[in-house]
Amino acid sequence: MKVINLNPDTDIGASAWFVEIDGHRLLMDAGVHPKLDGRESLPLYHAIEKEEVDAIALSHCHHDHVGSLPVAMRYFPKAHVFMTDLSYFIVERVLHNSVNVMTRQREELGIKEYPLYTHDEVDDIAATFQAYKCSREIEWAAFHKSRTGLPSPTLEFYDAGHALGAAGIMVRGKKETLFYTGDVCFHDQTILKAARFEDVKADVLIMETTRGAMAPKPNFTREAEIDRLGAAIKQALERGGSVMIPVFALGRTQEILAMLALLMKAGKLKRQSIYIGGLGRVFTEIYDLEAHRTHRNLTNLRLNEALDLTVLDKNTIEGMKLNSRRIFVVTAGMMTEKTPAHDLAIRMMGDKKHAIFFVGYADPDSPGGRLKKARRGETFIFSAGAGEVTKNCQVEDFDLSAHANREELLDFVSKVNPRTVILGHGDAPARAWFEEQIRARWPKIKIHQPQPGKVIEA
Ligand SMILES: [Zn+2]
Ligand SMILES: [Zn+2]
Repeated sequence: MKVINLNPDTDIGASAWFVEIDGHRLLMDAGVHPKLDGRESLPLYHAIEKEEVDAIALSHCHHDHVGSLPVAMRYFPKAHVFMTDLSYFIVERVLHNSVNVMTRQREELGIKEYPLYTHDEVDDIAATFQAYKCSREIEWAAFHKSRTGLPSPTLEFYDAGHALGAAGIMVRGKKETLFYTGDVCFHDQTILKAARFEDVKADVLIMETTRGAMAPKPNFTREAEIDRLGAAIKQALERGGSVMIPVFALGRTQEILAMLALLMKAGKLKRQSIYIGGLGRVFTEIYDLEAHRTHRNLTNLRLNEALDLTVLDKNTIEGMKLNSRRIFVVTAGMMTEKTPAHDLAIRMMGDKKHAIFFVGYADPDSPGGRLKKARRGETFIFSAGAGEVTKNCQVEDFDLSAHANREELLDFVSKVNPRTVILGHGDAPARAWFEEQIRARWPKIKIHQPQPGKVIEA
């Protein structure tokens, strides 16, 4: 089989994998690069533009996996688009939101090629989306005449436990199989239960490596980390400050809200209003509505009922007093420019009463990453728009990741027992750690750290 990594960058970047198996062609994910602007943020579709792609399968609805789907469909208009039933409820909202964001960026940052697609285009392609539950085998190329005479390969979604709808993808050909982890979480989160990848065996494994450079902390437990977060929030509010937790709208927002609901229920935090973003609110409703169809804990917890949620718009943020002990759970997780988290951070940063608590990955080159790195009292460049700022507020990191730990991923490699492992979705030190470990433990496994656009005979 042939695999091409279409991510334009060697870092996490934009997920998109081209796979050719039994003469059929599949694209897995169609993301955008969160740190690049305009056409540079797109996967290298031109590298495969002459190929006839039969199908596009989505692992989940985060931007770095789905944000360029309408562009991919211009290249491959005949491709059928497959996703899990839960992603089906989410994907259109994500794409419409990204049209809005790009339109704003065109005006405010002068990026002429934005938006890369329109609302009408999203509506048009949405009519072709097909949703499947996990554990169903889909003949993804049955619609197209085979070039090899071989029957259509199949694909099957496996619950990945990372965010609502997230799945790993198993591709089965006549003689060989491939498994793509997507973004995966092997431990229970507060809402979502761990991935169900138990019986996965495959010849080729494409694996995420997000946390490859993070050594596990001794004696770490998630419960203790959540208590530490609760205590830190309480302290900041008691000294008269406000607290901001920058998050992704899908997944992180709902997990943090569930933690806050439990902390309030247990009396560890006083009940009070929580401010969230509009998109976060939409996905919170979908989490509530789909609770009984989701592989999750707390099936009876309705975030919208358990918490007093207030949606923030841009104007409210600007006029809002921060000295009245508020809690914000707002996008974006890495505080990219033109987001509520970015704009609020500028207002909070100079005052030592306030607190900003990170609960997920922030790229070192993002505003959030730079804020984490700066020392208290240090003046640093936060973003192009904000320029120099001084960090006086409290900033802490809480390890409440929705990505698998590196040891769990290594265990998974041993269970899958592949002949080839392809390392993706991680920066260079993370991939290097996995390559070294796999080589030492299973010297027969072939390992690839695929360069952008390069063909791998896997
Ligand atoms: Zn993700
Ligand atoms: Zn991702």
